[in-house]
Amino acid sequence: MSRTDVQTWIYLIKNFMPRLPTPHGNLRFEGFLAYARKLSDRNKNMLRRMLACLDMNGVIRQNNQLTYALWTDRDRKANRIRSKNRRLFIQMGLVKVGDGKHVHHKDGNVFNNKRSNLSVVDGKKHKKSHASNNHVANQTCKAFMAQWRRLTRTAGARTSSARAAKRS
Ligand SMILES: [Zn+2]
Repeated sequence: MSRTDVQTWIYLIKNFMPRLPTPHGNLRFEGFLAYARKLSDRNKNMLRRMLACLDMNGVIRQNNQLTYALWTDRDRKANRIRSKNRRLFIQMGLVKVGDGKHVHHKDGNVFNNKRSNLSVVDGKKHKKSHASNNHVANQTCKAFMAQWRRLTRTAGARTSSARAAKRS
């Protein structure tokens, strides 16, 4: 994680999650991981969504280790289930490695793993079938980015005008 990423983190928490304790400015990467792991599930989800949005908009590049530290127990469990289903479907010959197929939960509940709730779908179509969720996520990201740009613009203007005032 670069220095800028650490600063982005602190900036995010200070401005968007003001009720959280501010991570110390001199924290090293390990310190950030520990800080991330200790957050509540709700805060983990919020922070992860904001970081993903900043990544999507080219403001930062997400760090995998950090993203993983922000996973909730539920995320880890869901991920284990997805891998398990995939392995099972490969064993049954219903899915092949690299065939672009996904195992889909018909009712949208990753914890309902009855065979009747699982189906093999085309990966691309599968992504589209979940597009209604993506749409909400995109709208939230757009709103967040607007707020982010407003804030960073004001902060940038403030520091440059302070510099200008010092110069004169
Ligand atoms: Zn699905």
